[in-house]
Amino acid sequence: MLNEEQIAAKATRQAITKLTWWNDRLLTFTTTRPPEYSFAAGQYARLGLADAHGVIWRAYSMTSSPQQKDELEFYGIIVEGGLFTSRLKALKVHDPIYLDKQCFGFMTPDRFSDGEDLWMMSTGTGIGPYISMLRDPYVWTRFRHLVLLHCVRHVDEFAFDRELQSLQLQPPVPSSAQLRVIRAVTREEPPSDGKVLHGRLTSLLQSGQLEAAAGLPFSDAQTRVMMCGNPEMIEDMRRLLHERGMRPVRRALPGHFVTENYW
Ligand SMILES: Cc1cc2nc3c(=O)[nH]c(=O)nc-3n(C[C@H](O)[C@H](O)[C@H](O)COP(=O)(O)OP(=O)(O)OC[C@H]3O[C@@H](n4cnc5c(N)ncnc54)[C@H](O)[C@@H]3O)c2cc1C
Repeated sequence: MLNEEQIAAKATRQAITKLTWWNDRLLTFTTTRPPEYSFAAGQYARLGLADAHGVIWRAYSMTSSPQQKDELEFYGIIVEGGLFTSRLKALKVHDPIYLDKQCFGFMTPDRFSDGEDLWMMSTGTGIGPYISMLRDPYVWTRFRHLVLLHCVRHVDEFAFDRELQSLQLQPPVPSSAQLRVIRAVTREEPPSDGKVLHGRLTSLLQSGQLEAAAGLPFSDAQTRVMMCGNPEMIEDMRRLLHERGMRPVRRALPGHFVTENYW
């Protein structure tokens, strides 16, 4: 455990400014943002919550855009028995939260040197970094097609739908890029209106349903993929992409996909 002096050297003390619950497990929370804290959309922070036993640190992707200077926003799930999230669940506005001075992560859209179609695949809270990217002008000017895929277990776990609808009509910068949002559920039948797919992203890619829903083919030349969330989904999807001749972006080599495992 770090002592107070060590914590002050590595982190700043911020305050919770808002907590919005989507259901009894999922929440958006915002904190104050120090003026010197800088990040790129897609990156994550390390947050610390203290109690009598010390501070517990966990990684959280920013959902706010880098342009939003006064606050940082995060999207989280309460994990049953989770050390950090048990504390998160009890937080109230004005409560303190530590923010590591550095930001982290390499799942940013500027990793792709070519390609015109950005596929943003997520499970659960893994949608977070894409919300930041879509609130930021960069992807809207860099890509021609933006496809956001969100896979959850139950229908009540979809979030940000209203904001995504308005981003489709009014992006943060004038843009000819089109945003398609594709949702899928795994553990229950989707509503009968046909707007939500049924099954895992990997099965839906294999069956051709993802490409059909996006109205876009997967292609070596144009498709660039980001994957975020459940490590099993990422591992399985990585295998499918390899089978299609796609490869990860490496530091010196261009590629087709980048990933971020949440555990
Ligand atoms: C790079 C990175 C970015 C992350 N960004 C976010 C984020 O934006 N929002 C967020 O809610 N979490 C995020 N996480 C996960 C987060 O850091 C914690 O693991 C999570 O809050 C659980 O912490 P805990 O101490 O309560 O649970 P722990 O006691 O550490 O239990 C961990 C277990 O909880 C489950 N778990 C952890 N995270 C999740 C999750 N997001 N969804 C479902 N099950 C999970 C897994 O089974 C894992 O083994 C991120 C993790 C990484 C590595």
